[in-house]
Amino acid sequence: MTKIYRDQNADLKFLKDKRCLILGYGSQGRAFALNLRDSSIEVEICLKTDSLSANEARAEGLKVITSEEIDDRYDIILFMIPDHIQGEFYEQYIKNKLKDNACLVFAHGYSIHFKLIKPPPNADIVLAAPHGPGNDLRQKFIQGDGISCYVGVEQNHSGDALDTALAIAKAVGSTRVGAFETTFEHETLGDLFGEQVLLCGGLAELVTKSYETLVQKGIPEENAYLETAHQIDLLASLLKNYGIHGMTERISMTAQYGMLKTEDKIIDEAAEKRLNQIFEKIKAGRFANEWQNEYRLGLKNLKEYKDKLKIHPIEIVAEKIKKIIE
Ligand code: NAP
Ligand code: MG
Repeated sequence: MTKIYRDQNADLKFLKDKRCLILGYGSQGRAFALNLRDSSIEVEICLKTDSLSANEARAEGLKVITSEEIDDRYDIILFMIPDHIQGEFYEQYIKNKLKDNACLVFAHGYSIHFKLIKPPPNADIVLAAPHGPGNDLRQKFIQGDGISCYVGVEQNHSGDALDTALAIAKAVGSTRVGAFETTFEHETLGDLFGEQVLLCGGLAELVTKSYETLVQKGIPEENAYLETAHQIDLLASLLKNYGIHGMTERISMTAQYGMLKTEDKIIDEAAEKRLNQIFEKIKAGRFANEWQNEYRLGLKNLKEYKDKLKIHPIEIVAEKIKKIIE
């Protein structure tokens, strides 16, 4: 059984008198910075010279430095910049400035697991990865609550690596709920697979394909939207709160029988094979290679994909309906 740590298992003393630098002030960077600060941990933020977020961070009273100003004073460096740039950022600004016994903290295991960052042996490498977006991490913290997270250790040079990860998890409010111990490998593979096949990729595909089918069959666009994307949050929250069986208890019997009828038809053998292939591709590092290559070549395919999503008819109907309902 996975080990779960709570407030009483974590001690902020492992962050005491440590110089903490947070790279980035985006979704997670901002939440980590403000939650750590409110837990009385002194943090500095590193941003590009022309960053638009710098003033926002300064307005919160945070000290902001540029990448060029990073020196070898930092005990703890939190990587809250996008995964695909972490490797080159490390090479350019961190590698030669790394203090002996420093701790590198990650909110996702990607860069370490796929060896985009190859840290020296005299550093701690830890994971403190919240199970949700930065905005929720911050909002829940303010309410005296938290969102759960993973903690993990890839390298334990100091002997205190797990305690440091737990202290960070406590400072951001996650041990109020629970910090689940895992490995960089399991976090990385699970996170990538979950977002690709279900939470982001799969969901987007199923929504657009269902919508397109309904419209092609002559169902009005508004109905097609209302019967698909519009109700996802309601069903997702039933599923999350009560389980799949519990969800069936709260939908019509017609919908229950409809579920039985599609069983094995949407996710048929061929789809199961594709799930397997997607996992194997992630595991073998082929997805990470492709993604890093896409970044090197200027993100052209990603931009085209997002442009296509932006002009999909479902977006227009969604806007129209939101204006009517909200
Ligand atoms: P993000 O919102 O995209 O944050 C980007 C931040 O990094 C911005 O402040 C940006 O600067 C800065 N940045 C971008 N390129 C930079 C560069 N070359 N040099 C210096 N700073 C740079 O990132 P994120 O989504 O929070 O992700 C951070 C980490 O958290 C990732 O490892 C991710 O996998 C993990 N994570 C994210 C979520 C989530 O829901 N977002 C959930 C769990 C874990 P500007 O402000 O100037 O644009
Ligand atoms: Mg992810």
